[in-house]
Amino acid sequence: MSHVLHRNLMASQPSIVGGEGAYLIDDAGNRYLDACGGAAVSSLGHDNPAVRKAICDQVNTLAFAHTGLFTNQWAEELSDFLVAHAPKGTGEGRVMYLGSGSEAMEAALKLARQYHVERGEPQRAHIIARAPSYHGNTLGALAVSGHAGRRAPFDPLLIQTHHIDATYGYRLREDGETEEAFGLRMANQLEQKILDLGKDSVCAFVAEPVVGASLGTQPAPKGYFTRIREICDSYGVLYIADEVMCGMGRTGSLFALEQEGICADITTMAKGLGAGYQPIAAVMASQKVCDAITAGSGKLWNGHTYMSHAVATAGALAVMKEIQSNDLLSAVKTLGTQLEEGLRARLGQHAHVGDIRGRGLFWTAEIVADRATKEPFDVSRNIAGKVQQAALSAGMICYPAQGCADGTAGDHILLAPCFTSSPEEIDIIVDALANAID
Ligand code: PLP
Repeated sequence: MSHVLHRNLMASQPSIVGGEGAYLIDDAGNRYLDACGGAAVSSLGHDNPAVRKAICDQVNTLAFAHTGLFTNQWAEELSDFLVAHAPKGTGEGRVMYLGSGSEAMEAALKLARQYHVERGEPQRAHIIARAPSYHGNTLGALAVSGHAGRRAPFDPLLIQTHHIDATYGYRLREDGETEEAFGLRMANQLEQKILDLGKDSVCAFVAEPVVGASLGTQPAPKGYFTRIREICDSYGVLYIADEVMCGMGRTGSLFALEQEGICADITTMAKGLGAGYQPIAAVMASQKVCDAITAGSGKLWNGHTYMSHAVATAGALAVMKEIQSNDLLSAVKTLGTQLEEGLRARLGQHAHVGDIRGRGLFWTAEIVADRATKEPFDVSRNIAGKVQQAALSAGMICYPAQGCADGTAGDHILLAPCFTSSPEEIDIIVDALANAID
C-alpha cells in the first residue's frame, strides 16, 4: 500500500523515472508523449540541459538564505527580466516569488487589499471574479474561483466573493451577436456588479487573460479587456491578471495579456515560470501598486519562508533565457497554427466535438453529447477522464477538465505541448487525441 496521500486514494499510479524531450518514461519502460505538460507546466520538455545546469550550479553554491535579510542574483535578474517584458503600462513593477499558483493568488489578493488600505480605503473589500473559473486550491484562492464543484465541500468560504459570467463564447454568445458586442456585453457585467455592491466598496477584479482549465483555453472576445480596464480605472478597482496557466509564452507572448493591449495592476504567474524544473510562482505588482505601498507603510504585508528561493529563481531565470535565446515564442506561434489546423481538420466535424478553441500552444476540444444542441454529457459519465485514459493507453498524455462539474460547462480535453515539440510530435498528438475521442 502506498503511504503517499495521492489525489485518488483508490488508484495505483505508475512511477515516473525519467524524461526525454516531450516524453515521460515510467519504471516499466513505457514512454508517454506529454501533450499537456501536467497542466501547461512543462514548456521546455523534460530534459533541458541549460535549466538543469543552472539549478545544479546554484545547489552546489548555496541552497538557502533567508530573504527577509538577503537578496540573491537570480531573484534580482529574474525580476528585471519579467518587469522589462511586462505589458506596456505596468511601469517599474516589482516581483515576489512563492511556491505555487494558489499561493500567488493569495498573495495577489493581500496585495490588492494592502493597496487600498495604504490609500485610506479600507472599505474596499469585495473581490469580483468570473464563473466558471479556477484560481487555486487554498481557501482564499478557492473563494475567488467560480467553480461550484470544488467550492461546495468547503462552503461557507472564508472570503465572500462575487462572480460575473466568464466569456464562454460557445454557449453565451447570442445568435447574430458580433464578437465585439459579445465582449462589451460580458465586460459590462463588471460595471453592473460594482454598482450593485457599492461603487467605493470593490477591491479587485480577477480574471485569466486566456482561461485555462475551468473553461478550456478560452481567449477573450475582441475588446473585452479594453472595456474591463476602463471600468476598473473608472471605479478605482484593481485588475488582477491570473497568468498562472496562460502566461510565460504559452499563448505566443510572454504575458498573455500583452495581446489584449492592456496592462494589469497585479499579475500572478506559476506553471510555465519554472516549467516544472522548480516549484515556483510569482506575483508582479505594477508601479501604481508599488508607489502606493512606498507612499504608505513602505513594507510588504506578506511573507513566506521560501520567498525568492535562490535555486528556484535560478531555474526560472534559465527557463526565461531558454525561451528568449531559442526564439521559442515564434515556435509557439508556428506549432500552434499547426496544432489548430490539425485539430480542426481531424475533429472540426466530429459528432461529439462541439468547439475547438485556444491560442498559441494552448488548445481545447469541448466534447458534447449532441453537436446540434450543444448538450453536454452528464458529468457523472466522466467522458473527459475516459478520453484521457484512452489516450494514455495509446501512449499520449492529455489533460481532462470538466468545467464546473455542475453541468454549466461540459467535458474539455486540453492540450499544452512543450514549445520544443517537433512538427511530427504535433501531428502524433492530433492523431492520438482524435483516436481517443473516437
Ligand atoms: N490559477 C490558475 C489559472 C490555475 O490554472 C491554477 C492551477 O491550475 C492555479 C491558479 C493554482 O495553481 P497551483 O495548482 O500551482 O496552486
